[in-house]
Amino acid sequence: MTTAKRSKYSSDTKAAQALGAVDDATGGVVPAIHPATTYYRDADNQYRSGRVYGRADNPTYLPAEALLADLEEGEEALLFASGMAAAVAVFQALRPGDHVLAPKVMYWALRQWLLQFATEWGLEVELVDMSSLQDVERQLRPGQTKLIWIESPANPLWGVTDIAGIAALAKPFNVIVAVDSTVATPILCQPLTLGADIVMHSATKYLNGHSDVMAGALVTRKKDEFWARVRNVRKQSGAVLSPFDASQLLRGMRTLALRVRYSSASALQLAEALKDHTEVSQVLYPGLSSAPDHALASEQMKGGFGGMLSLRFRRGAGFAIAVAAHTKLWKRATSLGAVESLIEHRASIEGPDTPVPDDLLRLSVGIESTHDLLEDLYAAIDQAKQSQ
Ligand code: PLP
Repeated sequence: MTTAKRSKYSSDTKAAQALGAVDDATGGVVPAIHPATTYYRDADNQYRSGRVYGRADNPTYLPAEALLADLEEGEEALLFASGMAAAVAVFQALRPGDHVLAPKVMYWALRQWLLQFATEWGLEVELVDMSSLQDVERQLRPGQTKLIWIESPANPLWGVTDIAGIAALAKPFNVIVAVDSTVATPILCQPLTLGADIVMHSATKYLNGHSDVMAGALVTRKKDEFWARVRNVRKQSGAVLSPFDASQLLRGMRTLALRVRYSSASALQLAEALKDHTEVSQVLYPGLSSAPDHALASEQMKGGFGGMLSLRFRRGAGFAIAVAAHTKLWKRATSLGAVESLIEHRASIEGPDTPVPDDLLRLSVGIESTHDLLEDLYAAIDQAKQSQ
C-alpha cells in the first residue's frame, strides 16, 4: 500500500483520500481487506513478511491506523475491538501500585471499570475535578502517579479540560497524559500537539460515524517503552478488530471532516436557540459564550465545539423523559457521533452513582437539517407539556 504520509495537505484532504492510499497489488483506490488469521512461514523457518498470526497484526488495519496517526500528529496508532478495549489497554499497561488520576465526570462505563476492576488489580485510582489545575496538582503524587486520564469535552456535561495545562503539570514528574478525544475528534482538537502523550478514541462514534462498527483506537506521540507495553496488551489480550470492520472504519473516516464540521455548526445553532426556551433551565455546550469554559474551548478547539450538547429541564426528570418520548426525528438511543441524531435520558443508563442530574437529556447532533431537528424538539417539548 502506498500512502502520502504527513503531507502538506489539510486534514480534510488527507481524510477524504485516506492519505491517498493505493493498493500496490491491484492499483485499487480502496485498500484491500485481508481476512487471513495466519501467515505463511518461509522454508528456512523465517517469517519475512513480518506477520505471524492475526491476533498480533492484520494489514487491513494499516491504512486506518496511518490516517489516524497522521490526523492526530502522532507517531503510531493502534486499532482495538472497541473504545473500551482501547482505554483499558492503557491502564493494563500500568503496574500494580501505580496511582492514576481520572475525571469525576467522564464516560461512565470507563469510570465504573476503573473503580470496580482496575482498583482490584492494584491500581490506585483517584477521581478529580479536571477543570481545576490546582485540584490536579494537589492530588498528584510525585513518583507514584503514573497516568492522568482526561476526557475533553467530557460526557455528558461537556466540560473542557485544559490539556496543555495538565501536560505542563505532569511533565516534570514523568506522568503520562492520556486524552479521550472521542467527542472532539482530530478535526477539532489534537491533544498530542498540546503536550499529551496518548490519544484515545471510541472509533464507534465520529471516526466511523454510521452506528455500524464497534472500534477503538489509541495514538501515541512517540513509540516509547510504555507504548510497547500497550501494543503487547493488544496482542496478548486479543482485543483486536475484525478486518471487515477496519475497512468500514476507514470508509467512515473519509467523511469525518465533513460530518464533524456540520454536526458542530448544527449543535451550536441548536444550543443558541434552546438556551432561551422557557422549559429549558440550562444548555450545556462549550460553544455557548456563557459556558464557564468557553474561552478555554475557543483556544483549544479549532473550527467548532463538537456535535454533543445536553439540555436540563425546569420541570424535572419526568418531563425530560417525556420530551424524549415525543421526539419523532431524534432517535431514542445511547451512543453518539453518527449521521443520525440521538437523544437519551442519561441518568437512566448510568444508574444511582451517576454525577449526572436526572433532568438532563443528552443530544448527539447528526447531519440532518438543523431546522428539522429544532422543530422536532420544540414539538416534543410542547407535547410533553400537554401530557403533564
Ligand atoms: N469514550 C467515550 C467518550 C464514549 O462515549 C464511549 C462510548 O460511548 C467510550 C469511550 C467507549 O467506547 P466503545 O463503546 O466503543 O467501547
